[in-house]
Amino acid sequence: MQLNFECRICKLIYDYDVGEVSFNEIGDLRLEIYPVCLKCKSKKWYLSEYGQSQVTKLFMSKDG
Ligand SMILES: [Zn+2]
Repeated sequence: MQLNFECRICKLIYDYDVGEVSFNEIGDLRLEIYPVCLKCKSKKWYLSEYGQSQVTKLFMSKDG
């Protein structure tokens, strides 16, 4: 699925197809494919505000 990220280096906000999204036992996000900035190719990112709401919805929809 696509999630919305913000690059820590150049601040670009971008959608990235991360494949399967899951959560480990402490609720940390795990991605099948980790994003790379479309502009500067950095692997340093964080979830944008929109990305965080996407992940929260996903987490809420998980059973157990
Ligand atoms: Zn960047």
